[in-house]
Amino acid sequence: MSGKDYSWLNVLLVDDSVSILNYVSEVLNKVYDITSIFTASSAVEATQIIRKTNNINLVFLDLNMPNVDGIQLLEQISQLKYKGYLVIMSGVSIRIISSVELLAKKYQLNYIGTLLKPMHESDFHPIFQKIGLNKTHYSAAESLKNYEIIRAIKNDDIEVLYQPQVELITRTFVGVEALCRMKHPRLGTVSPDQFIDKAEESDLIVHITMAVFKKSMHNWRKWHQMGLHIKLSVNASPIALEQPEFADVILHLLQEFSMPADMLCIEVTESVLADNPIQELVNLNRLHMKGVEIALDDFGKENSTVERLQKLPLNYLKLDKSYFIDHKETIGQLSLINTSLSLASKLNIKTVAEGVENSEVMKLVTEIGCDFAQGYYIARPISAKEIIPWAKQWNSQT
Ligand code: C2E
Ligand code: MG
Ligand code: MG
Repeated sequence: MSGKDYSWLNVLLVDDSVSILNYVSEVLNKVYDITSIFTASSAVEATQIIRKTNNINLVFLDLNMPNVDGIQLLEQISQLKYKGYLVIMSGVSIRIISSVELLAKKYQLNYIGTLLKPMHESDFHPIFQKIGLNKTHYSAAESLKNYEIIRAIKNDDIEVLYQPQVELITRTFVGVEALCRMKHPRLGTVSPDQFIDKAEESDLIVHITMAVFKKSMHNWRKWHQMGLHIKLSVNASPIALEQPEFADVILHLLQEFSMPADMLCIEVTESVLADNPIQELVNLNRLHMKGVEIALDDFGKENSTVERLQKLPLNYLKLDKSYFIDHKETIGQLSLINTSLSLASKLNIKTVAEGVENSEVMKLVTEIGCDFAQGYYIARPISAKEIIPWAKQWNSQT
């Protein structure tokens, strides 16, 4: 087995040889645990599948196909705005392949490697190593249309999953982050990457944000009644924080669900600090004064500046998962991470490491002094019902 989880990949294999299609499918399934595999034996079929499924995020493409050659197909795929990973399969010479690689880059395709025919199982390994380093390429699909988002809000198709967070030193289960999903009639479960940005272009994001607060606080009360006392973190879009009534609505919900203010944490992103922040700051400060906690999310993702930390009433700094997803990457960025950690500690801000995917990283973040961790190594986002069983199992392990 490969260690990392690749089961979230939706793969498209394009080759006119059935034996290659079968061989690659088998490796992907047996070695990498991938079950969502589409195959196409022509360019027409391939483009249809990408268009129709809308969620392909890894394509294996044969360069030598009858009728359309692989180069033309590269161009067509880029015109479909395919944003997922691309692997080239070919029996042609290395020289041709390197010029194809250049082309793939020119078309802004996320090329991650070539499989030379005849291929062997071990050839897949370096390619899969490159997957998962950059979350922005995960969801290949284009964002949803406004009407699809409106329909989901109206039909109550916004669902919330919860990802556990643990304290590193004691390994105690301390809280969950609420993460939304959308149920889509054709696409099934859609990840927030495919609709949050679009929703943020209009007021739709306010509806989504408030729906997530309400649902997750409702679940918090259920857990509480069942004897589980954990914190709840909810992501708030800057557009929602800009609404003059935001703080009042949250305070009202706290009352409705008899939730102590310090059990709620609002995750905000840096953009709150970048744009016109007056209304956001008013809302956040009002809530903070009542005891609601504030976390700065995705710290380190884009040009984050440390001075900005002082402008917000912060309790937590969430170090972006790009630091931690790969162990080597983490080692490489240790000095940067340490600077953030020591500044946070001076400002009395606790730190959360996001994207902890394996035991090495878990150990490392403990050693460098992060306070809390969240990531697939601990748990994936799970449904509200699964939280109590998960907590029991976690406690029995630690
Ligand atoms: P975020 O707030 O930084 O959430 C963490 C994301 O990292 C989640 O993705 C989570 O599933 C993922 N993640 C957690 N552990 C690991 C790991 O070990 N490895 C990897 N590779 N990923 C990990 P998700 O649920 O797809 O959410 C993506 C983003 O969408 C969130 O990033 C947040 O910015 C936004 N979002 C999610 N739910 C909401 C919401 O209710 N409201 C708003 N406004 N934004 C939301
Ligand atoms: Mg978050
Ligand atoms: Mg984050």
